[in-house]
Amino acid sequence: MRIIHPSGHKCSITDTLEIAKPTLLMSLACTIKKTSIDTMKPSMKVGVVALVGVCVILYQYHLSAGVRFDQLNAGDPGVSYGAANVPNNELEDDDNSYNKIIEDKIRAAVQWVQNVHGLSPDLQNILVAELINQFRKTRIPSPLHLKASEDFKLKQRTQEVTTINPSEKIPPLYVITPTYRRPEQIPELIRMSHTLMLVENVHWLVIEDAKVPTKEVTKFLNRTGLRFQHLTAPMPAKYKQKKGVKPRGVSNRNRGLKWIRANATEGVFYFADDDNTYDLDLFTQIRRTKKVSMFPVGLCTKFGLSSPVVKDGKFSGFYDGWVAGRRFPVDMAGFAVSVKFLLQRPNATMPYRAGFEEDGFLRSLAPFEPREIELLGDNCTRILAWHTQTKKNEPSAALDMKLYRSTNLVELKQQIV
Ligand code: UDP
Ligand code: MN
Repeated sequence: MRIIHPSGHKCSITDTLEIAKPTLLMSLACTIKKTSIDTMKPSMKVGVVALVGVCVILYQYHLSAGVRFDQLNAGDPGVSYGAANVPNNELEDDDNSYNKIIEDKIRAAVQWVQNVHGLSPDLQNILVAELINQFRKTRIPSPLHLKASEDFKLKQRTQEVTTINPSEKIPPLYVITPTYRRPEQIPELIRMSHTLMLVENVHWLVIEDAKVPTKEVTKFLNRTGLRFQHLTAPMPAKYKQKKGVKPRGVSNRNRGLKWIRANATEGVFYFADDDNTYDLDLFTQIRRTKKVSMFPVGLCTKFGLSSPVVKDGKFSGFYDGWVAGRRFPVDMAGFAVSVKFLLQRPNATMPYRAGFEEDGFLRSLAPFEPREIELLGDNCTRILAWHTQTKKNEPSAALDMKLYRSTNLVELKQQIV
């Protein structure tokens, strides 16, 4: 079959696919050849070319948008996409629902070509089956993951990245995020998810200070395409009722540690509050933590900064506006820990002691001395995390149902606090 390119050059469908290269499209080309290609009407041929275009776009989307094939296939055991405190069989359901989304996209694309250009029902069915078959078979190896992000120029900065061998397996990064229901919750999580979408092999543990998972949060997490776990860990009543400063996010972080002990064997974890701001280099650098790494955090305490002090290239103490007898006067966003290191310390936990959460947790990692700290951020000369805080908003006023009962406002109101 011959088609005329707008440039005037003649090229076949198979030529077009050669240019596009993806292997799944090669197979599609074979399918088309094998079937009724020679007997196609011209309009149908245009349809097939349009379909190839749609497939190329779909394929490019997967390469670039962070929805990766290893996220589409049931891969790592014990890993879920879109799971809220659910057993393993339901986690598989989530993988299946991901595959279903892709399959529906394929069906819709073929249907669109059928509607606009016409395709025989036989050819329509063959195309759908073959595309789905190829999507199921395809996995993108990790070098391509690296390449995709390099294309976006996200990973060119640190020396560490340039030394990563592309064929080497990237260790997983577990990001433990405490969160709780309030007007700012969803916008905070949106901002954070956008950061994590730019990070390789990340597993987001979102842990709500709540008795039951918030529906809006579950819905949101499912839409991110990130690998995540949605857990709950309410603050114990005796602390909740307490007046004054409370141990915020402690039950959540301890729940995260419990999950890691039960499910992770390698990699690194990091406590990332939902309202902070993270430099992308942070994730690249902490990923190789052997025991405990530390780095400067901006915008916290009266010094505006919390950081290890480095003299003559070596650790020589801590700089923090609030020391208060702490052995490790650091910010929650200022350290990361190796999973293996944690697993060797079965009693490590975060105490319910406001202001001493970081110190208590780091002390509980004993045996561990400050001199063993791995200094990141180019020997602590760069701020990798920012302890930002969002202005608190009052919950919204009730909706006047007499006025707005049958309007869009009813649905919108369910999405806010
Ligand atoms: N947090 C929580 N329950 C609360 C208050 C806070 O789970 O009652 C979470 C919050 O979402 C954040 C972390 O704990 O991820 C630290 O809280 P916050 O940001 O209020 O503390 P700050 O940064 O002001 O010290
Ligand atoms: Mn905060």
